[in-house]
Amino acid sequence: MTEYARHRLEIIGAVQGVGFRPFVSRLASELGLAGWVCNSLAGLDVEIEGPAEACAVFLRQVRGNPPPHARVRSVTESSLPLEGVSSFVIRESQTAPPAAATTEIVPDLATCVDCVREIFDSANRRHGYPFTNCTQCGPRFSIVRSLPYDRARTTMHEFTMCSECRAEYESPSDRRFHAQPNACPKCGPRLAFADAPGRVLAHREEALERAARAIEAGQVIAVKGIGGYHLMADARSTSAIETLRLRKRRSAKPLAVMVPDLGDARARCEMSALEERLLTSARAPIVVLRRRNDDDLPLILAPGNPDLGVILPYSPLHHLLMQRLGFPIVVTSANVSDEPLCTDNDDAFHRLRGLADAFLIHDRPIERALDDSVVRVAAGHELVLRRARGYAPFSLGAELTPVLAVGGDQKTSIAVTGPFGVRCGPHVGDLETEAAQETFTAQCRDFPALCGVRPRAIACDAHPGYHGGRLAAGMGLPLVTVQHHHAHIAACLAEHELDEEVLGVAWDGTGHGPDGTIWGGEFLLASRREFRRLAHLRWFPLPGGELSVRQPRYAALGLLAEAGIPIEDTPLGAAFTSEELTIAHRQIQRGINVPFTSSAGRLFDAVAALLGLRWRNEFEAQAAMELEHAAGVGDGAFIPLALESGILDWEPVVRGLLEDLRNRVPGPTIAARFIDSMAHAILLVARDSGKGIVALGGGCFQNVRLLESTVARLQAEGFIALWPRQAPPNDGGLALGQAVVATARFPDPVS
Ligand code: ZN
Ligand code: ZN
Ligand code: FE
Repeated sequence: MTEYARHRLEIIGAVQGVGFRPFVSRLASELGLAGWVCNSLAGLDVEIEGPAEACAVFLRQVRGNPPPHARVRSVTESSLPLEGVSSFVIRESQTAPPAAATTEIVPDLATCVDCVREIFDSANRRHGYPFTNCTQCGPRFSIVRSLPYDRARTTMHEFTMCSECRAEYESPSDRRFHAQPNACPKCGPRLAFADAPGRVLAHREEALERAARAIEAGQVIAVKGIGGYHLMADARSTSAIETLRLRKRRSAKPLAVMVPDLGDARARCEMSALEERLLTSARAPIVVLRRRNDDDLPLILAPGNPDLGVILPYSPLHHLLMQRLGFPIVVTSANVSDEPLCTDNDDAFHRLRGLADAFLIHDRPIERALDDSVVRVAAGHELVLRRARGYAPFSLGAELTPVLAVGGDQKTSIAVTGPFGVRCGPHVGDLETEAAQETFTAQCRDFPALCGVRPRAIACDAHPGYHGGRLAAGMGLPLVTVQHHHAHIAACLAEHELDEEVLGVAWDGTGHGPDGTIWGGEFLLASRREFRRLAHLRWFPLPGGELSVRQPRYAALGLLAEAGIPIEDTPLGAAFTSEELTIAHRQIQRGINVPFTSSAGRLFDAVAALLGLRWRNEFEAQAAMELEHAAGVGDGAFIPLALESGILDWEPVVRGLLEDLRNRVPGPTIAARFIDSMAHAILLVARDSGKGIVALGGGCFQNVRLLESTVARLQAEGFIALWPRQAPPNDGGLALGQAVVATARFPDPVS
C-alpha cells in the first residue's frame, strides 16, 4: 500500500521573483502532489501532501535543482498530519506589516533568450515590444516598492494586465506565470521620443526609430533604462564622444561601450572563458577587458588605457536599439560628473538640459536608481569594482544585531544587518553634491525598511569630516565609529566568512588614522572586533594636501624631500616652473598645509609622476592606473623595502627606480619592478607577523598587477591570501566592513 505524507518547507533566500512558485507548482503537479505555496516574509512557504516517495523526490528537487536565478540560503523541513487535500494551489502572499519582511530581493535580470526570441519574431504578439519579460528575466530590485515581491507592490502596479497577459500570469504552465512585471504592447509601458526641451514627438516604434537615427547622426541621446537614464552616442565617432565628454565634464575617465553582441565583443577584446561568462550573465555588468590591438574604435574612449569596459544589451529596449544600429555605442550614466543618476522623466528633462540632444523615455517608473555594475577578472576570479544593477542587493553571513552602516564619502554604498546577516545595498556614488546627499539620506531610510529591520545603531567612518557620518548623526541613533582601514579588512573577513585575527593589509588613497594623520599603507592585526597597527609605510609629506592628490607631481616632490633626494637627480624637474618649486619647497620647510601620509595610493601616484607618466590627475587615481598599465610582465627583479620597528621604508625602491631610469632600463620593466617590489614588501611583513592568513583590502588592490603579484608571492610561501571579490576593494566595500565591526562590538561600541 502507498504511504502518504505531508511536509512543510520554509525556503529562505533570494527566492521571490525568479519563478520559484511556478517551479514548485509545476513540480508538485508532475509528481501528483497536493498542497500550496506562497511568498512569505522571509522567502517561501510550501506544504505538500501525497505519496511519501513523490514527496522525497520533491524535496530533493527543491534543494538540489532550484530555478537558475534563485539563491537558496536554507530549507527547513517538517512533517505534518495529513489534511486529505487533492489539488496544488499558489496562495496569496501574506501582506507585510511594516518592518517584518526580511526575504531577499532578487537583483534585476538581463533579458533571457526566450524573450529576445519573441521580440524579434514578427508573428509574436510581443514583436518589437521593449518591456517584454518573464519569470526568468526583467526588472526586480529597480521596481520593488515593498515586500513580499508581488505586482501590487512594484511600479507595475499602475498598469492593469490585459486579458491575454492575465491568462499567462495565471496559467501554471506558462513561462510568465506570476511574472510580476508582465506586460505587452496592449497593456504595458510605452516608449516615447522627446526633443531637448522635453516635448514628446513620437511614440512606440517611431520613437525607437527616431532615437536610432539621432544616434546615427552623431547626437547624444538620453535613454531611460532599468535603473536610470543613460547617455548614448555612436562609439565609432570621435566627435560624438568629444561632445559627450565636454557636456558631461568628463575629460579622460574611461567610457564603457555597449556592443551589439558577443561576437562583436570577441572581435574587439581578448576574453577568457570567465570573462565571457560574466559578460553574458543575467547580471549583465560592464566587464573591463583587454582591448585587441586592431580594434578600430577611437582611443579617446579610454585615453592611454589598454582596457575597455564592455557591456551587452540587457533590456529588450537595448536589443531593439542595437539591432537597428548594428554598431557599438557609448553608454554612460546620465548625470554631470558624480551626481546621482536621473530616474524620473521630468527630473531628466530638467537636469539633463544641455547634456542630451533628445530623449527616449518610457512610463514605467523606476523605484530606485541603479548604475551599471563594473567587474573585471583578477587572479582568476571575478573582482567587483562597482556593485549596482544585477549585483545589489546581496546578503552574506548569519543573523546579526540590526545596524545600518553608511560607508565612506566616495563610491558610497550602505549596508544593513539583521536576521539575514549583512545585506549590501547598491552603489550610491560620491557624497560631494547636494543631490547625492539627498539620494543617500533617502536610501538610509528606504533600505532598512525594505530589509524589514529597525537599526539599533549606525556604523560610520571615524573621519570627523565625512558627510555620511554627519548625515547619519542626524538620524537619532547611537553612532559606532569604525576606523577606515579596519573596515576594509573586516569587509574581506566578512566576505570569506572568517572570524579570527589575521594580518590585514589595507592599502588605499586616504583614510582617517586614530593619530590624526592620513593613513593608507597599513598592516593591521585585525579581527572583526578590533585591530592593532602592526606596521605601515614610511610617512612622507603632501605639499598642498589635496593639491598633491590632484597633481601627483607634488606628491613626488614630497617623496623626494622626505628621502633627501635632490630633484636635479630626477626627471621631475621638468614638471615644475622654478617659481612653483620655490613655493613648494618653502611650504615643505615650514610645514604649512603639508599633511604627512603613509598612503600606498599616494606612493603609487608619486612614483608614476617620478617616472614621468603623469603629473596631473584628470580623474581619481589616474596616475596609479597608468602606472599599472605601463607595467610589463617584468624581469622578476624587485627591490626589497626596509622593514624596521614597524616602518616599511620605500626609500631604497625610489632610489633604485631612479637608478634604473639613469641606466635606461625600459619603462615597462621599471614600472613592473616597482609593483613587484611593493608586493614583495607585503610578503616581508607577512613573514614577520606570525599570522598564516593575509587579508587584503583598499582601493590599491583594484590594481590587478599588484593584486596578482601579491597573491602569488604569499601563496608561494604557504600563506592563505584573501582578497575582496564580491564587495569592491575600494570604499564601495566599507559599509560591509563597518557593519561587521559594529555588530561584533555591539552593544559595547568601544573602539
Ligand atoms: Zn524572459
Ligand atoms: Zn497585455
Ligand atoms: Fe579606503
